[in-house]
Amino acid sequence: MTTGKSAVTPMMAQYLEIKSRYPNALLFYRMGDFYELFFHDAEEAAVALDIALTKRGKHQGDDIPMCGVPFHAAEGYLLTLIRKGFRVAVCEQLESPTEAKRRGAKSVVKRDVVRLVTPGTLTEESLLEARRHNYLASFANVRGETALAWVDISTGAFHVSVIPEVRLGPELARLMPSELIVAEGDDQTLAETADEFGVALSPLGRAAFDSTGGQKRLCDLFSVGTLEAYGNFSRAEVAAMGAVVEYLEITQKGKLPLLHPPQREAQARVLQIDAATRRNLELTHALSGGRSGSLIGVMDRTVTAAGGRLLERRISSPSRKIEVIQSRLEAVSFSYDNSGFSERVRGMLRKVPDLDRALSRLSIDRGGPRDLAAVRNALAQASDLPGSTDGHDLPELLKSAVQDLMGHDDLVDLLDNALVDEPPLLARDGGFIAPGYDEELDEARKLRDEGRAVIAAMQQEYVDLTGIQSLKVKHNNVLGYFVEVTATHADKMLSEPLSDTFKHRQTTANQVRFTTLPLTEMETRILNAGGQALEIEKRLYSALSLEILNKAAEISQTARALAEIDLATALGELARNENWCKPKVDESRALDIKGGRHPVVEQALKSQSGEPFIANDCHLGDDSDIWLLTGPNMAGKSTFLRQNALIALLAQMGSFVPAQSAHIGIVSQLFSRVGASDDLARGRSTFMVEMVETAAILNQADDHALVILDEIGRGTATYDGLSIAWATLEHLHEANKCRALFATHYHELTKLSEKLGRVDNATVSVKEHNGDVIFLHEVRRGAADRSYGVQVAKLAGLPASVVERARVVLDALEKGEREGGSKRDTLIDDLPLFSAAPPMPAAPPAAESRVEKRLADILPDELTPRQALDLIYELKGLS
Ligand code: ADP
Repeated sequence: MTTGKSAVTPMMAQYLEIKSRYPNALLFYRMGDFYELFFHDAEEAAVALDIALTKRGKHQGDDIPMCGVPFHAAEGYLLTLIRKGFRVAVCEQLESPTEAKRRGAKSVVKRDVVRLVTPGTLTEESLLEARRHNYLASFANVRGETALAWVDISTGAFHVSVIPEVRLGPELARLMPSELIVAEGDDQTLAETADEFGVALSPLGRAAFDSTGGQKRLCDLFSVGTLEAYGNFSRAEVAAMGAVVEYLEITQKGKLPLLHPPQREAQARVLQIDAATRRNLELTHALSGGRSGSLIGVMDRTVTAAGGRLLERRISSPSRKIEVIQSRLEAVSFSYDNSGFSERVRGMLRKVPDLDRALSRLSIDRGGPRDLAAVRNALAQASDLPGSTDGHDLPELLKSAVQDLMGHDDLVDLLDNALVDEPPLLARDGGFIAPGYDEELDEARKLRDEGRAVIAAMQQEYVDLTGIQSLKVKHNNVLGYFVEVTATHADKMLSEPLSDTFKHRQTTANQVRFTTLPLTEMETRILNAGGQALEIEKRLYSALSLEILNKAAEISQTARALAEIDLATALGELARNENWCKPKVDESRALDIKGGRHPVVEQALKSQSGEPFIANDCHLGDDSDIWLLTGPNMAGKSTFLRQNALIALLAQMGSFVPAQSAHIGIVSQLFSRVGASDDLARGRSTFMVEMVETAAILNQADDHALVILDEIGRGTATYDGLSIAWATLEHLHEANKCRALFATHYHELTKLSEKLGRVDNATVSVKEHNGDVIFLHEVRRGAADRSYGVQVAKLAGLPASVVERARVVLDALEKGEREGGSKRDTLIDDLPLFSAAPPMPAAPPAAESRVEKRLADILPDELTPRQALDLIYELKGLS
């Protein structure tokens, strides 16, 4: 944008100068009670916010488009804009018009951007989801070595990890950051990955990724001489962390949020789960997008937002370390066994506000009296909590968490004395400091209140003096306090002797208004006292804020401990209510589950049909690595596969599991893939995606991995698919040597178990009754006898004639199979013609003719058995 030399008002010149520094953000330009947007910004915002686009003045001869949002309602508009992918630079007035005049400025007050609002840098309660982290991540590449750093500025969490570039996708899937910072130039190559995971990409100058500069920035931030105290970080890690800090400085305008020292997250410590597996297992988001229907949706019993966030972290990153898992399981076990204790503790936790987020807002000066009160209330509850553990021998994890709750008595006392019970949201209106806390403040407030009382008394005095009963003393912003009488009394008031006392100020249609000297004097006293009280409150607010921030590290530790206790008791409660059991976790190769259930399907059945979920066993172990699961569609194969993966994952995150008993040998990596046709939603060449993903598993799975493959090879012609499934199974058995559950409709594969020593057959049983199929959902050893596709088609409502015809085709095909491939082809020729089939029952004519038409196009000789089956499904779609 260029400034026209002529006719640019000083204000517009200022606007254009500021805007030129923020080309990639919408500029919220503060004018009085509004944030105004101009030019292209205005056009974009008006559409995005659905508000009116107007005009203001001219620029280079053209109208200037403008729109605005009221200052007091700006948060809601900001949220909408951020959700729609915009960034917003908030430009404030930095002085009052009076100050500007005093300074000698002609007509514009000083303004500048005080904050750049981006998806990853939100702190406002209304802009954040309480139970979800809001991560800002940064990916650095220093000469081929790469690292990812991520912070949640609303809680101060700061992490870093060395990850190869190929793992960036999986990590984004795990953390779900809302924004990813990358070096300028890298944004092209990473755009697709960021896009796939819905992450906003923010390119930053390469200089910000310089590891030497980063080192310095980090040392300054944490006031240390070297970063070694926190770990021996690689250059890429330092570069990634340094870039995050630089970005925060830019967006927060130098007011850095409170960050905890960085924690390195070693990849070897967590169960590796890639993006497709997370999606497929619906860990934190259901395939439909929301939280409901996901694993976290059914198991979240936490009562604090921080506990909810911890649960999300644990589900996203289960551990691989036996000691860690054991100590978490012991804590859950304790709460499971001591329901009275848990209930008491949960009752107290319910009253604990979000300590992390209050603290973070205070640290960037975006807090208010309610945040002070949140800290007070949370710490007060925290200090009371250890009392309810008396007499219990707590397991280690809970013991140390309880330790971390203590030591805040002085701060709680201070805040208790200083604050009223329920302070207002904003500091600027005052009224949050409790009486009796500060003498000077009490004095100022007394003067102010007395003044008000005196004024109230004056009304009676003036009524007596004038004899006008309807006389009122009122207040407005223009006149301050004034005396008001109706117009009928004007003459009396305007003549002597009353005119000596009452000075005329204003006449409106029906009223006449006056001031008096004592009234004005009293008003000045009230104003002065009120203003002074506000000043004192502001000063006290800052002092209290500082007291809290001085203890930030200890308070954060308490916040973590509260979340840990909340999660342990929530998981205990869940286990008790839902009848989950404590898993045994060790270094073995077992995946030995008795009476396992799928928590999400179980709950859905309960709430929808009330039907019971059929529990099933799974026994992988030393002599059996792979179960090959066959059974008709809809029998429950996918459910069984997923439930076993979820049980392993739940055990490793330190939770009880939905089973009668479970013995889990530590799983290092979890993979889950679904055959192409279930994955249509992603709209790529689905078979290609399936193969790429299967390749990734075969290339990566180590001998401690757990792989679940659901109908792999389905996306292509029968023999192709069968061969691919066959070779995949062999590779898992021979090369990966991992544990796997493999569901397939290729019955031919069941013969492999004779050849491959550690493959066992299992099947989900069904019962046939009068030609119908009944799903028992029971998994048992052995192979399915047949596929029941035709019966399932019948259940789905395919016209009876088509089902009948399909039976004939199937019989012929099966006979052909038995008698050898070459015979089969000719057998298809031998099938009686369709027209020879039983007459069609009355069906809607349109559907009937479409099915017939499709059949007419078919060359039976060209069909493989699989295609014939597919055809039945297609016909069903046409019916
Ligand atoms: P498949 O993969 O064999 O086609 P699914 O696993 O998708 O079958 O299961 C189909 C439906 O059957 C599920 O949506 C669920 O309602 C029901 N189901 C699956 N397993 C069970 C079970 N163990 N107990 C009860 N109902 C089940």
